[in-house]
Amino acid sequence: MKIIFLGAPGAGKGTQAEYVSERLGIPTISTGAIIREATKAGTEMGLVAKEYVERGALVPDDVVIGIVKERLAKSDCDKGYILDGFPRTVPQAETLDAMGVKLDAVVSLEVSDEVIVERMSGRRVCSNCSKSYHTVYKPSPNGDACECGTPLTVRADDAPDVVRSRLTVYHSSTEPLKKFYGDKGLLRIVEGQDKVEDTTERTFAALGI
Ligand code: ADP
Ligand code: ZN
Repeated sequence: MKIIFLGAPGAGKGTQAEYVSERLGIPTISTGAIIREATKAGTEMGLVAKEYVERGALVPDDVVIGIVKERLAKSDCDKGYILDGFPRTVPQAETLDAMGVKLDAVVSLEVSDEVIVERMSGRRVCSNCSKSYHTVYKPSPNGDACECGTPLTVRADDAPDVVRSRLTVYHSSTEPLKKFYGDKGLLRIVEGQDKVEDTTERTFAALGI
């Protein structure tokens, strides 16, 4: 299966994508995670992207499209994949179309802006394995450290003023994709629930898995 997760920053796309990935045995491709790894490694692309990410802007389409093309060419994508954080603009979605990618479903995970801002303040991430947690809703069994043992950190772009910019960008640039995929009959709306497992149940139901 080829599945896209749409949703505001912090809506929980990455978390749900992880569960679907386990259930279906297909990889999750997160452009955000790839960009953060590149920034950490100090590659040229990573350094270009860093400036955009840190002010809550989108990384230019050509950069992100390059990342995705390279990743989808790897053999673990042969049986299908989940895209988390891509496409985020109409031109990105059009490129995917032009690449001949036949999608099975596009899940839009819907969460209000107020809930998002509250959630982002509790988000903690692992810089080693990129797992993501929440101090209240999805605590790590290891307390302030990841399951892999690495101390958890707050992402620079999770600062409240940056979160507000990211939400504005989401509404103007990414939300139009709901119509884009709705018109193709691929859109499945999932209302995000307070409990992660309730959202997972609805996500699986929306995908018929
Ligand atoms: P979230 O889902 O919480 O917004 P991500 O980890 O998906 O976070 O993305 C973090 C940042 O990486 C984005 O705010 C953006 O700057 C950049 N980014 C990730 N994916 C894309 C994309 N498809 N197009 C443009 N920028 C992207
Ligand atoms: Zn970890």
